Amino acid sequence: MTLMRITATHSIERTACSLCHMGCGMELHIKDGRITEVKGIKNHPLNKGFLCPKGRAVIEHITSPKRLTAPLLRQGSGWKEITWDEAMEVIVTHLKEAQSLGENSKVAFSVGMPLLLSGTSTVAMIHRLAHAYGTPNCFSVESLCYRSQMLGYIATLGKFFVAGYERANCIIVWASNPEQSSPPIGAAIARRKRAGAKLVVIDPRATSMAKRADYHLQPRPGTDCALMLAMMNVIIDEGLYDQEFVEKYTVGFAELAEHVKAYTPERVQEITSVPADKIKDVARLFAQTKPACIAQGPNGTDSMASGFQNNRGIAILQAITGNIDVPGGFIQTPRLRTKVVAPIKMVAENPVGIAEYPVLYGVYGRNFGEGQAMVLVDRLINDDDKPVHSMIICASNPLLSWPNSAKVREALAGLDFLVVMDQFMTETAKLAHLVLPAGTFLETSEIADYYNLWSLPYIMTRKKIMEYGQCRPVLEFLMDLGRRLGYHDEFPWQTGEDLLKDILRPSGVTYEYLTEKQPEGFFYAEHKYRKYEREGFKTPSGKIEIHSRYLRDMGYSPLPTHLESPETRISDPGLAAEYPLVLTTGSRNIFHVHSQMRDVPSLKRRVSEPLAELHPLDAEKYHIPDGVIATVENRRGKIKIKVKVTEDIKPGVIHIPHGWQDANINLLTDNACANPVTGYPVLKGLLCRISV
Ligand code: SF4
Repeated sequence: MTLMRITATHSIERTACSLCHMGCGMELHIKDGRITEVKGIKNHPLNKGFLCPKGRAVIEHITSPKRLTAPLLRQGSGWKEITWDEAMEVIVTHLKEAQSLGENSKVAFSVGMPLLLSGTSTVAMIHRLAHAYGTPNCFSVESLCYRSQMLGYIATLGKFFVAGYERANCIIVWASNPEQSSPPIGAAIARRKRAGAKLVVIDPRATSMAKRADYHLQPRPGTDCALMLAMMNVIIDEGLYDQEFVEKYTVGFAELAEHVKAYTPERVQEITSVPADKIKDVARLFAQTKPACIAQGPNGTDSMASGFQNNRGIAILQAITGNIDVPGGFIQTPRLRTKVVAPIKMVAENPVGIAEYPVLYGVYGRNFGEGQAMVLVDRLINDDDKPVHSMIICASNPLLSWPNSAKVREALAGLDFLVVMDQFMTETAKLAHLVLPAGTFLETSEIADYYNLWSLPYIMTRKKIMEYGQCRPVLEFLMDLGRRLGYHDEFPWQTGEDLLKDILRPSGVTYEYLTEKQPEGFFYAEHKYRKYEREGFKTPSGKIEIHSRYLRDMGYSPLPTHLESPETRISDPGLAAEYPLVLTTGSRNIFHVHSQMRDVPSLKRRVSEPLAELHPLDAEKYHIPDGVIATVENRRGKIKIKVKVTEDIKPGVIHIPHGWQDANINLLTDNACANPVTGYPVLKGLLCRISV
């Protein structure tokens, strides 16, 4: 039986790849009911015709024999294939029963990265459904990734800003490896470098970009905030800051100047192990080269005890050097005015984890509406009266991608009812009572916009061009579930396309225009710089909040302050004696995204197994030969993994990639909420040891 059914109406269809967070413009050639060729869209402003190996492997991925093709109901130790109507009936019956017992809030929804990427309307539908049903308990991967960045910027600048690397003359790539994680951004930065821009890379790993940089600083994982503060110390002490901008547009500079006196480059050398003279050089270079910006990855600076303050520090460094909202600096991108499909009425109760970490929910009324999943995991294990007994997880594999896999397994296995909607039978899906087959981005209609992450006032549609087995778009599953539960006012749209037409209405851009006239997308606006001169900043003071009274009143440090992570040689010397290596994880490679695409044959041929990167000095110290299968362990767990001895990692640090089922590094990571503001766990800077 042919599982793939092409629904496309043109022989060449254009869409936005959503196999990672970039959204590269993609062109699909279709003939005789098959996709015959996949190319990058040449004039797409982001990827300019480029597709990475994942994008080029999209046909293999979507037609994989391992894809789920029908709903599966658990029966004993096996599965029974059922129809969608039967599956929906199972869910509706369970949810109505919980509702009749007044246990609405014990039902939770959780989404992963693919959903967040394939369009905000899908996420909006989850929130709408949850609140219509009567539960505030929505969670996502943003409990440990990316939201911290948004919150840090909003708390400081009032809005989300993005590095304008395309026109920068000095770029600091901070805790990011864009050539692997965000290839079009890596290419753009490389272009600027070739055009003469200065490049600084801050990373414990010697990435290919770090090797070409003017400066490569290798801080001890988890100490980035101290490094930022030392740079501010130099910039302020040497009078290299933009005095006019600081006086006119910021509050709290005097407090900052006083605060950073304690962070001399010499003292910070002791904390970070970055030589003081290099800190001074980079601070001077950044302050004296205009325009300059700092390019972060989606979460490199988040996963540490100082994570939230790191993001404030990055905003402040760009503010005091006068690089805010100037071409090549830290810029704001105009957004297309679309309809907000927020819940019609909100449940008054907060989601789990927000009592402890209220800032994670939102800053200055800009609410994200989700709880802290790391708290949920602990409460599912420890509470007698568990806050949640049922979960619907869409496009997420927490068993591999959330920290502390043993705990996550225990937490999810204890649920009364678990529904997982995904494209493959993931480790998490294997725990479910009901598994639903999800459509890929080629089976879904969505809007792809680029204003947020990539500073492009550009929009295009992700177009449904095919169907596969009985797979359904998550968006349509959610709307269908809402209607079956009786929430017709909340879900008046019959199809995803109906919803998108409604969302686009205020913009003046129609869905038909986007799909038929501009399928490759279009610029809907031009950048207008220095918006603050006209409108100020959307903070309580109307200025950049270097010193934040808001944070102070919430009980947090009002200025970025270095915090040692709970497991370091400084915070726990006894533990460090037992587990002497610093573990860093969470980085990306160009062939996979988190736990996805591990079984795609062409990608598997390129990277078939995970490798633990260990410096030759450590290899000698711990008697670990190159290529050996070693045991890496700490108090939480152990894995066996092949070792690559390489000078591309800082001595004393071991780097292990995540997302691999057979060497799952999240057996060693910890879900403990280390960041006091967001509750984010530590992924950069845990302790472990290695042996053979
Ligand atoms: S970088 Fe690769 S996976 Fe990511 S959107 Fe572009 S083509 Fe797709």
